[in-house]
Amino acid sequence: MQEYKLKTFPRGGVHPAENKLSAASATRPLPLPERVVIPVVQHLGAPAEPVVQKGETVVTGQLLARGRGFVSANIHSSVSGKVFRIEERPDASGYKRLSFVIDRQGDEWDPSIDRSETLRENIQISREEIIRKIQDAGIVGMGGATFPTHVKLNVPKGKKADILIINGVECEPYLTADHRLMLEKSRELMVGIRILMKALEVNRAVIGIENNKPDAIELLDNLAGKDEGITVQPLKVKYPQGGEKQLIKAITGREVPSGGLPVDVGAVVHNVGTTFAAYEAVQKNKPLIERIVTVTGKSVKEPSNFVVRIGTPVAGVIEAAGGLPEDTGKVVLGGPMMGKAISKLDIPVTKGTSGILIIPDSEAHRKPVQPCIRCARCVSVCPMGLEPYLLMSLGQKQLWDKARQESVMDCIECGSCSFTCPADRPLLDYIRLDKMRVGELIRKEKKAVS
Ligand code: SF4
Ligand code: SF4
Repeated sequence: MQEYKLKTFPRGGVHPAENKLSAASATRPLPLPERVVIPVVQHLGAPAEPVVQKGETVVTGQLLARGRGFVSANIHSSVSGKVFRIEERPDASGYKRLSFVIDRQGDEWDPSIDRSETLRENIQISREEIIRKIQDAGIVGMGGATFPTHVKLNVPKGKKADILIINGVECEPYLTADHRLMLEKSRELMVGIRILMKALEVNRAVIGIENNKPDAIELLDNLAGKDEGITVQPLKVKYPQGGEKQLIKAITGREVPSGGLPVDVGAVVHNVGTTFAAYEAVQKNKPLIERIVTVTGKSVKEPSNFVVRIGTPVAGVIEAAGGLPEDTGKVVLGGPMMGKAISKLDIPVTKGTSGILIIPDSEAHRKPVQPCIRCARCVSVCPMGLEPYLLMSLGQKQLWDKARQESVMDCIECGSCSFTCPADRPLLDYIRLDKMRVGELIRKEKKAVS
């Protein structure tokens, strides 16, 4: 294999065990569920507004709910069948969300969707039409952030992007959905990148991939050689390499200012899953109704990558990977660093569900919290240059103003501090509390001014 010069972000970071157990598992479509539960909010922003009623018959790909306002996203049916109920159902966060409960009947698709495997390379529409199609298709950031993609493509007036960064890092341990996508849909991905470049009016794109995926680096590097303006940048394996700010720093050397956006330094970042979804939306007229989900864990019989229809219950996906292991201690949606533990398995897979991680009981319990020994390890690993031990103590004392002064809102919630703390202090738990309270203060201030 070719020798590459590896880049990375300069400040902090940790090296958790990679455990990419499902890396060799090619994606397989999950058998269609009998019933799906599709929440009207699966994105950052306002919930979508239902446009179909209880009792209506719908087809796969049909619009169920329209995004309300600009920062919102359309929601489509992932199956054909009958809307059994529209009611509040718990999602991964534990909160109840208005959801469509659809009983599947067959699999009849909206006829305007191109379901062929044919690669459509020619991009025939304007940048405005691209953004509109992406908005219509309900595309959101599929790396987990779920920010509506059309919003990111509308660069605010007075700002200019000059580089598109494609995030193929997948630095979370265990997860392999993006890796498989890069291997299996590489040519579609290249078209997706050109679509996003056109939408952003940039002539340079860089695909960032960690060096533990040499097959994806080589494959995309070969394809990129034929595409003017697109290159691959291999990156050192270091968590959280896939954080937006860390990726921009590694690839461009630019630093997103505190409280700023990537576009403030001329960069826009999109995940590989989002890029593929943009290809399907623009070239195939296909809305975001399914995604690749990794199901993995040390005791999982068959760690796998499945193409899963949105709304499928988590239990059904686990079943297809051999069922819930007997020694299960915890089920997490996402990876072990940033994922969220769930208490029920009947909650649905949504647009941001990249993985289902099953942690054995022997590893699922937190160790008793010890007093801080002032070792400063949490400070040295923080990629944002924060002082996590101090932020935790401010949270415990409810000193929100002080936490704000200490830039708590810059925390990207990567969990590196908690991971590294020898005293097993729940740093991130308190930092999240700080962020919630400081966020409330900021919103109150803005309201008072407007
Ligand atoms: S303070 Fe936030 S950004 Fe820093 S290591 Fe902890 S979780 Fe990551
Ligand atoms: S890593 Fe843990 S023990 Fe060390 S300073 Fe930070 S909070 Fe204290």
